Amino acid sequence: MNCKRFEQQIWAYLEGQLPSAQAQAFEAHLQACPRCQRQIAAAQATYRALRALPRHRAPENLVAQVRHRMAQPSARPRVDWARVWRRVALAPALGLLTVAAWWGWQAQQPNAPINTAAEDPTESLVELHEQLEVADWSPSPTPSYFISTGYTR
Ligand SMILES: [Zn+2]
Repeated sequence: MNCKRFEQQIWAYLEGQLPSAQAQAFEAHLQACPRCQRQIAAAQATYRALRALPRHRAPENLVAQVRHRMAQPSARPRVDWARVWRRVALAPALGLLTVAAWWGWQAQQPNAPINTAAEDPTESLVELHEQLEVADWSPSPTPSYFISTGYTR
């Protein structure tokens, strides 16, 4: 018996509906589990409150009336096909409308401005080449070069 199983059986236990073996397992868990002791205290309070409510007798022929109503075809809910169709048709229509609105909005926008910051890539390559040419290329790296970069050959 675990707490979940206990919860499932609380009402059957309170109504005396559990077979004796299950009732014993239920009570054994109840003895050992404070959480389920609180659970059953709350359930017992609810159970007592419900039993204290005034009782009314159902009409003698209630069951016969319900069976009679259920047997009639008008008691079954009818499928309103027009309503189903409207719902089914609405989703694609909304989708199309959204696409059309987006397309119309796109058509109104001027072409995206060309990014003037991006220059001819060959220019930056030429510039880099010039910088490399003026750089001081000593035949062997200086000690400070080793220290600052950790580079070794
Ligand atoms: Zn428990």
